[in-house]
Amino acid sequence: MKPILPGAIIGVLGSGQLGRMLAIEARKMGYRIYTYSPENDTPTGHIADLDVNASYQDLDAIAAFARSVDVVTFEFENVSSEAAAKAAEFAIVRPGGDVLHIAQNRLREKRFCRDQGLPTTPFLEVHSQESLEQAVQALGFPAVLKTAGWGYDGKGQHKILQLEDALPAWESMGRQSAILEAFVSFDAELSVVAARGVDGQFAHYGLLENSHLHHVLDLTVSHPNFSPKVQERAIEITRTLFDALDLVGVMCVEFFLRGEELMINEMAPRPHNSGHLTFDACVTSQFEQQLRAVCGLPLGSTAYHRPAAMVNLLGDCWSQGIPQWQRALADDRIKLHLYGKTDARPGRKMGHMTALATTRNDARDAVLKARQLLSQAP
Ligand code: AMP
Repeated sequence: MKPILPGAIIGVLGSGQLGRMLAIEARKMGYRIYTYSPENDTPTGHIADLDVNASYQDLDAIAAFARSVDVVTFEFENVSSEAAAKAAEFAIVRPGGDVLHIAQNRLREKRFCRDQGLPTTPFLEVHSQESLEQAVQALGFPAVLKTAGWGYDGKGQHKILQLEDALPAWESMGRQSAILEAFVSFDAELSVVAARGVDGQFAHYGLLENSHLHHVLDLTVSHPNFSPKVQERAIEITRTLFDALDLVGVMCVEFFLRGEELMINEMAPRPHNSGHLTFDACVTSQFEQQLRAVCGLPLGSTAYHRPAAMVNLLGDCWSQGIPQWQRALADDRIKLHLYGKTDARPGRKMGHMTALATTRNDARDAVLKARQLLSQAP
């Protein structure tokens, strides 16, 4: 199949920061970029050549959008399967709608992994009061009840500490299809961000160690000290998933690690927050890699310039007023990324900072210190 070359138009479903960083890379390489979402004044829209404003349910508008671009990709996975299928009638869609369909539902995702013989957190399906009670009894306590569909960053999740918690939690979700997972007391959370090209070429950024706060990613550090066995196994699992999904594009697989045991927590078939440090730290960022993969170009080198660490900047950083950027940037190893959002609500992802240093620990300390300085009195 012929590659989609610079000058062509990339269509992105979604308009958040992931699309923004893809758009920056696309513009660097001479592509044009159109974004599609129901929102105005968006992070991707600020960079895109064209910002189409329509609902994901409007299949006529999706069809018109797909006709106007050379390839369609997405920057968040909660686009309906119908919308993805409609786009595929008129344009190449990468990754394909079937991948989206699996990844946007926790039950389908975990079953798919299990069917490939890959390890996941222990889980059971909940679709009735009876199945809920059976699941709670089978998995024990604590457990986590999550909506099967449309969940991210811990939204739609309830910790179940005793049998009596289960029914109210499920009722608060409107008794929708859900998944009950055993609560894993992990030693670490890690992710693998990787890309696969149209010809099956595979490239990964190694393991990334993640820390979450209130279910939202807070800190990612490259070059973790996990054993070679864990590192090899995590990459092997990721590659098996990419091949099984016949995925073209970028995907992140998130794991829990307990001892030497890896369990898949979730997968996201798009660039991922834990891969943001690749923007500054690697020869080819996860966003350029997405562009190359969906355009059918050879993938770029994933080599790191230096060890790196990234912290998210949530709206909370604005609670004392405008953050003191100049103080953070006084450390010349710090790189600042802001997504152009104006409303700094608590919990909202407004930007991130990355530090590049000689060691992973130095990078981590530098980026944490820089974030602290943002809101401290001088
Ligand atoms: P998720 O949206 O499923 O990725 O969950 C967000 C975060 O909640 C994870 O990164 C974990 O820190 C925590 N979490 C979710 N599921 C579990 C689980 N089964 N056991 C322990 N922690 C969990």
